[in-house]
Amino acid sequence: MPDLATRSQHEEELTAAILTILLMNAGRVGPHPGDYGDFRRDLAGSMSPHLRKVYVEAAEGMVAAYGFPAADLDRAAASWADQAAEKAAAAVSVTTITHPVTGSKLDAMFGPGRAAKIAVTEITRAVTAGEIFILIQMSDDAGRELISVWYTEDDARVCPICGPLHGTPQEDWSQAEPAGPPVHPNCRCWLVYEEVRESIGEAEHWRGVDLLEHQGPDEHESGTPQDSNDGDGNGGFSVLDS
Ligand SMILES: [Zn+2]
Ligand SMILES: [Zn+2]
Repeated sequence: MPDLATRSQHEEELTAAILTILLMNAGRVGPHPGDYGDFRRDLAGSMSPHLRKVYVEAAEGMVAAYGFPAADLDRAAASWADQAAEKAAAAVSVTTITHPVTGSKLDAMFGPGRAAKIAVTEITRAVTAGEIFILIQMSDDAGRELISVWYTEDDARVCPICGPLHGTPQEDWSQAEPAGPPVHPNCRCWLVYEEVRESIGEAEHWRGVDLLEHQGPDEHESGTPQDSNDGDGNGGFSVLDS
């Protein structure tokens, strides 16, 4: 879907939650992995509820857009968010341990910039995962196939990895980045979906897709028959789905 409307609010809240834990642990840098168990647990615990909310919101956006009722969303969101938070917290604690720093670098290690970077990245991941949860149900339970187009902010800040992906369809972006956004820390990319309609065999354009000139309706009139999407509708998502 278009980028989450409440994204900046979620970023603020999650950044604050992460920063609280970082500040509590400021100065605990060094090769003492045993000391970091509680840091990791606290960090994961601070992130999980926020990531769960984002996942649910992203999934509900798909539900509303496509009129497809989600099964087991709350449970899936809770379990995904716990795992994602643990994974992120483990990565953060490893970096903290293996990069002993001093002075201003030490402040940065436990400061707001790092908290924001973690928040932005993990929110991007939660949005993609929540949407894919619905996509897979739509495909498996109802045979409805959606394809996605990659979006970046398309401004001067977009990096050389994400820039070329802007506006590319799934068959192209999944070659480069099979798991979808995020592709690096601070990545704010997102996917926009269009449904491949069984009955008439052409893509139904939806919301932001029309913003891309080369994704206009004409493009699809002589496009591939919908058969060619069988089996790979979610092909780009295997990593996140597992
Ligand atoms: Zn990028
Ligand atoms: Zn990106």
